[in-house]
Amino acid sequence: MSCLLAWHPVVAAPVLDPEEEPSMDIILVGSSELSSPPSPGPPRDLIAYEVKVNHRDIEDMCICCGSFQVYTQHPLFEGGMCAPCKDRFLDCLFLYDDDGNQSYCSICCSGETLLICENPDCTRCYCFECVDTLVSPGTSEKVQAMSNWVCFLCLPFPRSGLLQRRRKWRGWLKAFYDREAVRSRAASGTDGCAAALTLLASPLEMYKTVPVWKREPVRVLSLFGDIKKELTSLGFLENGSDPGRLKHLDDVTNTVRRDVEEWGPFDLVYGSTPTLGHACDHPPGWYLFQFHRVLQYARPRPGSPRPFFWMFVDNLVLTEDDRDVATRFLETDPVTIQDICSRTIWNAVHVWSNIPAVKSRHSALVSQEESSLRAQERQRAKPPTQGPAKLVKNCFLPLREYFKYFSTELTSSL
Ligand SMILES: [Zn+2]
Ligand SMILES: [Zn+2]
Ligand SMILES: [Zn+2]
Repeated sequence: MSCLLAWHPVVAAPVLDPEEEPSMDIILVGSSELSSPPSPGPPRDLIAYEVKVNHRDIEDMCICCGSFQVYTQHPLFEGGMCAPCKDRFLDCLFLYDDDGNQSYCSICCSGETLLICENPDCTRCYCFECVDTLVSPGTSEKVQAMSNWVCFLCLPFPRSGLLQRRRKWRGWLKAFYDREAVRSRAASGTDGCAAALTLLASPLEMYKTVPVWKREPVRVLSLFGDIKKELTSLGFLENGSDPGRLKHLDDVTNTVRRDVEEWGPFDLVYGSTPTLGHACDHPPGWYLFQFHRVLQYARPRPGSPRPFFWMFVDNLVLTEDDRDVATRFLETDPVTIQDICSRTIWNAVHVWSNIPAVKSRHSALVSQEESSLRAQERQRAKPPTQGPAKLVKNCFLPLREYFKYFSTELTSSL
């Protein structure tokens, strides 16, 4: 993805903490790898004409592409959404770039050139086309000229041209995600009842974003594998910061609830199986059971609004049965994240997590690829260059909406 970054001085930005990241006025020129051809319908320029002249209800048109074949309602703004645009929205909803901003337009989930909201509490982007068609022609140019632009979800007034923010859009977004994710799973027909039950039991946990000035450093419990390096490079932990921020345990055999409650509270619990080819003291399933046990001790009370995240990573050592057990115990489906270099898969991990970004990163690993990876690992003398923690690193980026972060390496070496 090629990026064009324009830096501007901070102009009376509502940044209360001088340690926060510098406020940036960024115009990002990105690629649109994921954009699929829009469904047949009138060009998007006609949306305004249809609404204003033909008095068509905007809920009856896809605001992402202009199609009249509406499948559902857009969760953030008033207007309809066709089926292909809904699929793309669902896939890209939680994708973030290295800089911590969302990768695609919040309206159409594609877009060549993106305008980035400068409200430090917000990570949303908008494409020129959406802004020009739905607000008014020429708006994108005006926004670019502004030194401090906040987006249509952050502005105090709900309407800009045809773009009307939904009341309680967070609730809409959650309902949209829970409904559509279940539907798309049901349509792909995986695992029948068990999968449906799992999904019903695990609706998206969507916490309200924490305002910048209220964000605290994240408190992490890291079991077996350590993610200190990754979290430090993302800016969540400071080099040489208070060691109380991350507690790493290799062995939890004697760890009881009281210990975890004393060390805590924790905001993030991470655990991983040992990497392939590493000698381990326990069968792979042990790591899963122990992670699950300790996770229960660290969870906030049910119904607590405190953002709480967890992630369990398996570096392909769990058996298929173990993985099914993990899905049942952790009440969510795993996703596969691969390290691909010149079309060769070097490493892969299965990840169970409640961090929303993880859900956007599906990629299926065919069992053949998996066994060849395992074989490859056993022969290799040195461990893979990309350890499991490094592979999942970028999944932590959305946590910036909840926790304070320090200096960052924007061009981190992932
Ligand atoms: Zn559409
Ligand atoms: Zn757009
Ligand atoms: Zn915004």
